[in-house]
Amino acid sequence: MSIEEALTAERNERLTAERAYELYWAELLGQAPTFTCVGHGCSAPLICACLDKPEQNLRIRPYFRSRRVEDHAATCEVAHGKGETKAEKRPDVFEAERPADHFRSLPAVSKPDPAAGETLWEPLPRRSRGSGQGQGEHPIADESAPTGKGPAAGLKPRASHYYRLSSLVQKFLEHRRDKDLAEATVEIGGETSTYEALFRNIYRQKVADQLNTRAIWWGTASLRATKEGGYYLRFSRPFRHEDAELKPTITLTAKDIDAYPVRKLLRARLDKIIAEADGYCVVFVWAKPWMPKDSEKPFVRFYVNNLDHIDVRGPEILEELKNTSRVGD
Ligand SMILES: [Zn+2]
Repeated sequence: MSIEEALTAERNERLTAERAYELYWAELLGQAPTFTCVGHGCSAPLICACLDKPEQNLRIRPYFRSRRVEDHAATCEVAHGKGETKAEKRPDVFEAERPADHFRSLPAVSKPDPAAGETLWEPLPRRSRGSGQGQGEHPIADESAPTGKGPAAGLKPRASHYYRLSSLVQKFLEHRRDKDLAEATVEIGGETSTYEALFRNIYRQKVADQLNTRAIWWGTASLRATKEGGYYLRFSRPFRHEDAELKPTITLTAKDIDAYPVRKLLRARLDKIIAEADGYCVVFVWAKPWMPKDSEKPFVRFYVNNLDHIDVRGPEILEELKNTSRVGD
């Protein structure tokens, strides 16, 4: 059984498996975090599967599970009360910016730390496990989750909030598998659209018509590391522009990566793709295509000013995409 949320003693925080995954890779959960069930009167130990795997696809994704169903309390609605709340779908929400304290080393206690804004993107000090435990509930414990351990807390259907594009890509793959891309909705940049409308394959679209279209553009690409410690991506399929075909490029600078809290995951993912697939990858980027106004040789770039807005996956997801109803390219 896949469980959505857990409590972590390390941070006294209630979180989703996606959030646990981010915190783990931001080196804020320690090497062997422990999780327990959020169910009423329940303290079943949970495992977060795939926590240390840099890659993600339909088979490999973080989720919580218990070792045995008997570990749960009889009163635990997570283990025993599933199934009644399937209706009432709310759109997923993709937040363009994270809350300022999203990567604090420990949950906020009472009053906000005035220095938090400054230290946001700085490397956070390591703390030994169990020290300085926060007392209160984390205000962003799980994004939109009602905090607390109330009896019905685990059951209410509610929107999922995401900050890293990778989380949305994961939902895209799942909706594509489930053949409901056209019905499933997501709120992004203040607008609600369907997954189908939001995700666009660049292949052979007329780029001049798309310069104002902020969407999640995707396609196969080649990836390489740069001498400066960054990465360079070039799509392998082109946009159309008059008679030309233009393959967009993306540069990720070492400076931006070093300032990114989940850089360890980003680098592990990209390096793995280079090592195992010779840089052949599928890239997703939430951006507008950009072209220079007056240039003798036209070209297209995607600028990524927030590394939460790009996701790069290994070529194995092409198989997953092919095996679903819509073949993108
Ligand atoms: Zn339980």
